[in-house]
Amino acid sequence: MMAYLDNAATTKVSQTAAQAALEAMTMSFGNPSARYPLGGQAAKRLKTDRETVAKSLGCDSREIIFTSCGTEGDNWAIQAAIQKNRHVGRHIITTAIEHAAVLEPCKRLEQQGYDVTYLLPDENGSIRLDDLGAALRPDTVLVSMMLVNNETGAVLPVKEAAAMTRRLAPQAFFHTDAVQGFLKLPFTPKGLGVDLLTISGHKIHAPKGIGALYIRSGRLIDPMILGGGQESGLRSGTEPTAQIAALAAACAEGKANLQRDIAHMQELKAYTLGQLALRVPEAEQVGRGEAPHILALTLPGYKAEVLVRVLGDMGVCVSAGSACHRGKPSHVYAAMGLDKAKRDGSFRVSFSGDTQRTEVDAFLEALTEAKAKLFTSMS
Ligand code: PLP
Repeated sequence: MMAYLDNAATTKVSQTAAQAALEAMTMSFGNPSARYPLGGQAAKRLKTDRETVAKSLGCDSREIIFTSCGTEGDNWAIQAAIQKNRHVGRHIITTAIEHAAVLEPCKRLEQQGYDVTYLLPDENGSIRLDDLGAALRPDTVLVSMMLVNNETGAVLPVKEAAAMTRRLAPQAFFHTDAVQGFLKLPFTPKGLGVDLLTISGHKIHAPKGIGALYIRSGRLIDPMILGGGQESGLRSGTEPTAQIAALAAACAEGKANLQRDIAHMQELKAYTLGQLALRVPEAEQVGRGEAPHILALTLPGYKAEVLVRVLGDMGVCVSAGSACHRGKPSHVYAAMGLDKAKRDGSFRVSFSGDTQRTEVDAFLEALTEAKAKLFTSMS
């Protein structure tokens, strides 16, 4: 039996989303800009899909611009904010625990003379508002703070941080990378009070290759790609209607099932922790990780990379640190001050609305076996 417990890395495309993509590819396949009925049909479908995505975020459809992925949304948000505020200053605030899609553009900007403050996490992996308050300056042009950390599941105080930014540095753009928070926590960009917000399709049962950037109405930014003027002139290129149709279907499904999915994932998380306490008592949770779908664990004394490979051979998919870092040590755990044994032994289990309890049981079984095997081979 395969146990897929790496839903923070990517999710299986839902049947509804796959069906919507198929329909868009084979039926309403026209170019939405074409002036005959087949084009009109595609344009109409695109409009409805944008409205559906907007509805799942509780915003206006004009505030949604489709992108190719979360990484693009994050890069664009940062570039757009500093461009728009180039007369305000050259100071950026972000956190030391952001995804590489935020950290790497910030590092590049540092090389170009920007001053970047990286807020450090507390022992639970969250960010203290006092630290943000102390870092904000009149020349701060952007604050970028993720909603949910992809490695620990920590939920960051984005709403409070956005309000504080508005008060102390009113010119600054506030961006949140909500890739891991979207359809895992109930929120709206308006409720959070942010200017820019990134989501990604493949984390919510839509295919890879699609995401969206929410741009608060009235917060004008420069285009990402110039060309035929699609996406309100902000991101040209013929719209990927199949991926958009699938994203919209996944958003509608995820939104309709949000409360049920949250309860289900919370239950699985509690069950996993309870069973681990009984069966693998040396396993510890890393941080507090309030997000329902992410459980960060460590087995001090073991090498997570080896553990993950052995579990993989037994059909159990979990990840060592963040899959996006391809084996590099976790900057998140380092920033949290975890000692080396805990850092080396850390791995992540992540659920989705359709994860079965039998998958968790298979993981627990495999972990017990892997531990015994590795202990034998290490001793
Ligand atoms: N931001 C966070 C918090 C993520 O977890 C990820 C994906 O792992 C990304 C951004 C990047 O999204 P994408 O894979 O769609 O580029």
